[in-house]
Amino acid sequence: MTPPTGPDENDDARNDGENEAENADDVDPVDRLRRTAAGDAETDPFRVTGVMMQYYVVCKRELWFASRHLEIDRENPAVVRGQRVDDTAYEEERENLSLGMVSLDLLQDGRVVEVKPSSSLEEPATMQLSYYLWYLEEFADAERDGVLVHPTERRRQPVTLDADRRAKVEDTIRGIHEVITSDTPPEATEKPFCSACAYHDFCWC
Ligand code: SF4
Repeated sequence: MTPPTGPDENDDARNDGENEAENADDVDPVDRLRRTAAGDAETDPFRVTGVMMQYYVVCKRELWFASRHLEIDRENPAVVRGQRVDDTAYEEERENLSLGMVSLDLLQDGRVVEVKPSSSLEEPATMQLSYYLWYLEEFADAERDGVLVHPTERRRQPVTLDADRRAKVEDTIRGIHEVITSDTPPEATEKPFCSACAYHDFCWC
């Protein structure tokens, strides 16, 4: 009589690996980010920067390219202009604060300031700043207000992290996770600002 075949140890190992992978997929990306920030996700980190929040709102395809570290066109006039305003505005008053995944500007009155060359893309900039406020609240136990500043237009836009904004930030973190873990970029869809995009040649040439 042939003895019954016991379970193969390799199968067990494979199954354990698959289960772990499945479990990792089941984890809420917001919790993955929290674990990464706490240093508890060395093998499975998930980082979100302020620029990624911006890209997600502006163009998910751009976010995917940036997540693959594709080199941007630094000679692009829009990139150069943004960099120049960012480098020179409020030089005297600015204090740069690096905290984990984010690097932000903190003015002396304690409000978090984000300087942008123009208000034409206000929602992405607001999302970036909201993320900084969320990040400070989550990981530095610091509740702050923010202000978006457009020096060339002499405009200042207050930003507060209320319940709606907090939920929006967390939904955006989940959306970013979905985009950057995809094997392929989202389809290119033409937008008014494509001609000024650093990845223009990847999409339209
Ligand atoms: S060129 Fe347009 S579609 Fe392509 S990444 Fe830039 S904004 Fe997105």
